Amino acid sequence: MNIFFDVDYTLISFEGRLRPNVKEVFQQLLDDGHKIYIWSGVGLRHEIIKKFELEPFVSGVYWKPIEHYEEKLVELGVDIRPDFIIDDDFGIVEALGGYLIKAYSLPNPDDKELWKAYEAIQAHFQA
Ligand SMILES: [Mg+2]
Repeated sequence: MNIFFDVDYTLISFEGRLRPNVKEVFQQLLDDGHKIYIWSGVGLRHEIIKKFELEPFVSGVYWKPIEHYEEKLVELGVDIRPDFIIDDDFGIVEALGGYLIKAYSLPNPDDKELWKAYEAIQAHFQA
């Protein structure tokens, strides 16, 4: 399935630090047969993907709609259907379906939220 991850406060903190377990969870998702996409409401975040060496995990990078989600998907050229999204913003999770992740604002080495998101993905697609 096509799993779409937000960037700010989902994968990186306010200061731009990578959230714990990103690579581990990405690898597990790939092992499970999913595809990973990265999108952001502020543009194409290739610099973040490169900085944290996430290229091997990621199948595509998109501009994320921040309102009128369904119609903007087309307008922004999102040509892959998001099956499940991980985002700290309630609006898009409610509209497109996925897991509302707790915002990663300040660095916290004990953060386990991405594994919770993984469990939600597993539960969703096993149901
Ligand atoms: Mg965000």
